Formats: sequence, structure tokens, C-alpha cells
Amino acid sequence: MTATVTQVEAFIVSLPRDVPYLGPLAADETVNTKGYFVRKGNRTVYPTTDMSVLVKATASDGTIGWGETYGIAAPQAVVALIDELLAPFIIDRDPYEAATIWQDLYDMQRVRGASGGYYGDALAGIDIALCDLACRIADVSMSQWLGGGRVDRIPAYVSGLPKATLDERLDLARHFIDNGYTAIKYAGPSASDGIVTEMRALRAALGAEVDLMADLHWRFNAKAALALVRELAPYRPRFIEAPCAPEDIGGLAEVTAASPVPIAVGEEWRNLYEAKLRFDNARIGVVQPEIAHTGVSQFMAIARAARAHRAAIVPHATIGVGIFLAAGLHASAAMGASMYEYQHSVFDRNLHFVNTTMCCEAGYYHVPAGPGHGVVPRVELMQFIRR
Ligand code: MG
Repeated sequence: MTATVTQVEAFIVSLPRDVPYLGPLAADETVNTKGYFVRKGNRTVYPTTDMSVLVKATASDGTIGWGETYGIAAPQAVVALIDELLAPFIIDRDPYEAATIWQDLYDMQRVRGASGGYYGDALAGIDIALCDLACRIADVSMSQWLGGGRVDRIPAYVSGLPKATLDERLDLARHFIDNGYTAIKYAGPSASDGIVTEMRALRAALGAEVDLMADLHWRFNAKAALALVRELAPYRPRFIEAPCAPEDIGGLAEVTAASPVPIAVGEEWRNLYEAKLRFDNARIGVVQPEIAHTGVSQFMAIARAARAHRAAIVPHATIGVGIFLAAGLHASAAMGASMYEYQHSVFDRNLHFVNTTMCCEAGYYHVPAGPGHGVVPRVELMQFIRR
């Protein structure tokens, strides 16, 4: 008999940062008493610190597995779901059954509207921790455990140019190109001179060979999105991301049917059901699973669906200390992702808080050596952890 789970705990990580995620605050953006602010460009709430939720799973043989999920807004909700509701249902289970456990926990709440959102994030953090635990008990890397890593490095695309002016953003983009990166995505809402002007300026500054992408942050209806995509098309973007609101599946269908540029979606999906709804209705060019939302089990399910629908797999990356990102790299190595998002303003500074061989250099992520996903928190992280 293999080891069973004896304890599952969740913790909030909150790392201070000088410049907020996605760049400096605009003149009309203010931080509230709880440390949150809304980006006017995409009407989305962000914290002023780097927050995520860690999940620690302990087995009966003493092995520890680590998971991590979103903690961007009110991480206490995810911690409560794990500690108060989900953890007792995992005790005495076999961590090798991680995918089954994900399904069991999903089934418990599916009819109550808890099929995604914070509940999905809680399941994702648990799933990553259990998969890591199973791998560590077996002493294999996560990509081996998932069927075999095809590669040990994955192309990284630079995500976001968090500077206040277009000139500063062009300088930052040139800096990355000079350092070996070949793909850059900018945030539409942060393009202070306009989304098309930003693309035109980047293409002119960086040359014909660089891959450029624009994230539209779900801001447009189908008609406006298509008009914009057609204006961007002459600058040959590799893909255009998130044109319509997540719930506007009809709009997504319209845009993907007529767009001359591949459309990328999927960063907010928690599971295969959400993916299937879009695959069944739209011609998706690029799928961007976020393992901090999906966990390993659903990341693999979505990635396989992407393969079946001939969509490229280009995973999303968000705020974290590197644990879910490492799991995402292993899963991507197993599934053959084309590129992986590189949140340079988060990734490099937070590597200081974990032990790992993972790094991102000269245009490539290096998949960390195992066992498991290959990332363990360092003692330096402990001062930023709270229950
Ligand atoms: Mg995005």
C-alpha cells in the first residue's frame, strides 16, 4: 500500500512590491483601505502585493507536496474552502488518485454554482499539491509522471511592458529582444497611445521577425473586436487574446469565424467543461490554460482537447512564487506547448523565495528538475506567509 494523505493546509503568501502588477497606477486609479485597486482599462481588481495561496499536503510516510493557486483577490476565501470544507475529504486518500479526487470534490458542489471561480482555484491548489506529493513518493518528475517530458525547455514570451509611456515600453521591449527573447505581448488597456499605435510602434521598433501579441482583456463586443483585429492584422500579430467578455461565447464565435489572426482564449477556465463550451462554439486558435485555475488534472484535459481541436497550447502565467508555474512547465513539457507566458515582473523576483533549478533565460523557460514539480518554498518565504 502506498502512503496516504494525512494533512492538507492552505496559507496566504503576500509579497510586497514597489510597482503594482501590470505597471504604475494611472492618475484616476487609487488603492483602497484593503490594498486593492481597479484598473480602469479592464475594470478588473488587483492587489498592491503579490498574493497567492499555497497548499501543503503531507503523506503518512512524511513526504510533503506543495501546491499553489490564485490569491489575487480575497485569498482568505480559498483558504477557507480548503481548510474548512475540502481538506477532511482528502485525508486517508491516495495522492496517486489526484485526478479522481479533483472530480469527487468538483461533484460535491457542482449544483451550487461552485463549478469555477474560487472553488475551482481551491481544487487546483489541492490538485497540484497531491500530484507533487504522488511524484515525490514515487521519486519521479511531474513530467515523467504525466507520461514523459518531450522537452526540457519551453519558449517564453515576454508578457506586458509595465511602463507609463510608449517610448519607455519600446525601450523595455528592445531590452528583452537584446537578451534573447523573440516574442512579446502587450496589454491593450495599458496602450496609452492606442492599441493599434502600440502594435505599429512595436513592429517598427523590433523588426519583422519578432512575434507580437496583443491582449484585449475581454473589452470588446464582437463587431468592435473584429474591426480592431482587422486593423492589427497588417502588423502580423501571432495571436490576439481575449477579444470579448468570457461569458460572450456568441461574440467569441463571431470573432473567431472571421478573424484573419488566430484568437487566443482560456486563461480564466477552471476545467474541461468550460473549455468544451468554447471549443464546441468557436474556432479557437490558441488555448491558454492557467494551471493555477485548473490544477494539473484539468490542465492536461484542456491541453488534450486543444490538441484534438488543432489549437496551439500557450499557457497563461500569473502572480505566484513559482510552484504552480513549475507544475505548468512540467505539464507543458508533457503536452508540447508552443510557448509559455513569462511574467518577468513577478517570476524573477519571486524565484528568490524557492529552491528550484527553474529559470527563464534568453527566451526559454528551463523545466525544473524533479522530483515532483521541482519547487520547494525557502525559509525566506515564511515571513510573508499567514493563515
Ligand atoms: Mg490575458
